[in-house]
Amino acid sequence: MIQGGCTCGNVRYELRVAPSNIVDCHCADCRRSSGAAFITWGSIERKNIRLLGGEIKKVSVANRIRCFAACCGSPLILEDSVDADPVEITIGTLDHPEAFPTTKITWLEDRLPWVTIDHSLPKFQRGSQSAQL
Ligand SMILES: [Zn+2]
Ligand SMILES: [Zn+2]
Repeated sequence: MIQGGCTCGNVRYELRVAPSNIVDCHCADCRRSSGAAFITWGSIERKNIRLLGGEIKKVSVANRIRCFAACCGSPLILEDSVDADPVEITIGTLDHPEAFPTTKITWLEDRLPWVTIDHSLPKFQRGSQSAQL
């Protein structure tokens, strides 16, 4: 079973299947919501996420819902809309994120110039529906 949790350990979750479509998102919203240069997301269906403990705080930004640990603010989940499925989970909050390497890079338009990227991966100017670079 794949498990993860927030910084303080109050929120714990379990994934019934492995997340897929692992994406580094360099958009400005991901940057600000995490305080990091980019967020690595993995797609997963809602039914395959089980909250084991703690509370989630949801914040709507730019028509998307960002879900944080209510206890310590760790970014956990991104929903493209209220009923979006699959949703995106932060690979960095998994107990073993090393098992899920990045497969594509999005929002290069917003990338910080000092962030080095792997040019062998598929990369996109904006979201993965935009023109591939
Ligand atoms: Zn916490
Ligand atoms: Zn983003």
